[in-house]
Amino acid sequence: MCAAEHDELNVYQSAEARFEIAAQKLALEDGLYRYLKYPSKEITVYVPVARDNGKLEVFVGYRVLHSNVRGPGKGGIRFAPDVSIDEVRALAAWMTWKCAVVNIPFGGAKGGVICDPSKLSKVELERITRRYTAELCEWFGPERDVPAPDIGTNEQTMAWVMDTYAMHVRQATTAVVTGKPLELGGSQGRKEATGRGVMICCDKALDRLKMKRDGCRVIIQGFGNVGSQGALLMHAAGYKIVGLADIHGGLYNDKGFDVPKVHDWVYNQGKPLQEFPAGGEKVSAQEVLFRPCDILIPAATENQITTKNADRVDCKILCEGANGPTTSHADPIIEKKGIFIVPDILGNAGGVTVSYFEWVQDRQGFFWREREVNERLQDVMEQSFDQVVRYAETHNVNNRIAAYIVAIDRVARALKLRGIYA
Ligand code: NAD
Repeated sequence: MCAAEHDELNVYQSAEARFEIAAQKLALEDGLYRYLKYPSKEITVYVPVARDNGKLEVFVGYRVLHSNVRGPGKGGIRFAPDVSIDEVRALAAWMTWKCAVVNIPFGGAKGGVICDPSKLSKVELERITRRYTAELCEWFGPERDVPAPDIGTNEQTMAWVMDTYAMHVRQATTAVVTGKPLELGGSQGRKEATGRGVMICCDKALDRLKMKRDGCRVIIQGFGNVGSQGALLMHAAGYKIVGLADIHGGLYNDKGFDVPKVHDWVYNQGKPLQEFPAGGEKVSAQEVLFRPCDILIPAATENQITTKNADRVDCKILCEGANGPTTSHADPIIEKKGIFIVPDILGNAGGVTVSYFEWVQDRQGFFWREREVNERLQDVMEQSFDQVVRYAETHNVNNRIAAYIVAIDRVARALKLRGIYA
């Protein structure tokens, strides 16, 4: 990989590049610019874990708190082999901007452990989670930093985080973490929330472009929480899902998929997505992004759309379900093609919005019905979408930069009101 390519794929640099453009357009004061550019604090933890074979292994983990200006840090914990401090830093900053875009009272944080969950037993994963949490007990807390699931972690992981924290502080504290099982103070609608938020953004984008839902062709890369829930909801709403992929490969079928059947195939029968019977043309996990469609939803991982392939994207709307699927270097190519972009910090903000609802419900000890959760989510997403698009139109910037400007402006205002303790 040459140096330029390496730079392009550094997600921290991608996040920073957008921040720079937005901060400049906003004429952000120099001091505030410097304050918001860097994370508030970061920590590396070395997590010793007894493997099932009796050997001791040490896993490296991180937690970065980017900002707690508008409220406690908020952000997922990722378990993946390619976790790095730069990635966690970028994701933490994105959480600050994301929470500000949807105007919920959280700052931004993120964590991760370098490990491959597919090669670890459930008991090993539990040990990693518990020791990682124990090391970070002073960082976490409902008023300090509230983790959530991300790639490689799920409801069960969050239950372990909650229990470990509770054991250390000697009281059940459900609000320390979100994305928990319903039985432990989780929220109705959380599992579907990110996919639902993606769909709400797509609905709004269609309105803008005067396009119809029925028969609108959608490709979704990633069939995990965001991708599969998004696909199920959008299929039920009348969208035609013509492309699907997970890390092992994808399928394209312009007649559309029966998504509940694909979901059952993958999740209940445990079969490979690409082997779905009569699934259509087999394509690689990345190639699926370049098949023709109306809406393209990358919902897998970072750096999927780059300068090497952005000119091959063939859609009218690009709605980012994943964090950072498009590199900052590829932004101008997508813009030049006239594609309507719903940037990640808006497109996938449904998850953190319902995480916020979960935190509120836990602190109140009073739980809402699913309909209430979904209605409130719809309100937040629609308002945020309108604010971003209105800003883009009135200030002649693209939707991504508009989202950053709206977010940075909100954090900067809060910071100015608080004053800097320096
Ligand atoms: P997940 O682990 O549940 O699923 C990830 C999916 O992507 C899997 O189907 C996996 O096979 C696939 N995948 C991974 N690498 C791939 C590749 N190179 N090509 C094609 N497919 C690939 O994760 P998730 O929770 O669905 O998160 C997906 C993305 O959405 C991440 O970027 C995450 O940060 C972001 N996100 C998640 C949430 C949430 O609530 N879960 C909220 C906001 C943002």
